[in-house]
Amino acid sequence: MQNLLKSVRVIGDPVLRKKSRPLVFPEDILYIRTLIAGMVKALDTAEGLGLAAPQVGESVRLFIAAPDHLEELNGHVVFINPEIHPYGEMEKREEGCLSVPGIYEVLSRPAQSTIKAQDVRGNYFSLDLDGLAARLIQHEVDHLDGVLFVDKLSPIKKKLLKGRLKRLKEEG
Ligand SMILES: [Zn+2]
Repeated sequence: MQNLLKSVRVIGDPVLRKKSRPLVFPEDILYIRTLIAGMVKALDTAEGLGLAAPQVGESVRLFIAAPDHLEELNGHVVFINPEIHPYGEMEKREEGCLSVPGIYEVLSRPAQSTIKAQDVRGNYFSLDLDGLAARLIQHEVDHLDGVLFVDKLSPIKKKLLKGRLKRLKEEG
């Protein structure tokens, strides 16, 4: 984990395309604590809304949310082994990603979502979310499955972004 704080991984890095492994309690507790400490610093530095473990090179099912969302997320910052069920009408919102720097696009996603996850102690909790929080958790869980938000854009938008994405992949 020595490269954890160096930078957030950018599109083109193979770790962003892997399906992450579930974390195990209590075996992984020390690893989880170290990982979270690094991720909190990285998210704070990058000023993002959320950060998934693969974005710092660790292919495990964990993400964190920026503390600005504490109220919406009922005080939860760390989500381990999350399971989500998006539902409701499709809603358009602009989305961006620390791993796809400089690109912001409007994307449709279900407006609501439930999430069940474990906290740092391994205790399960559930939330029923809407608005930005519902979108945030869908975006972060996609990361754990190797999916980036630009994958979900329409073919036309993808085509328009092709050159910029290619440059990002090359620059890394
Ligand atoms: Zn992202």
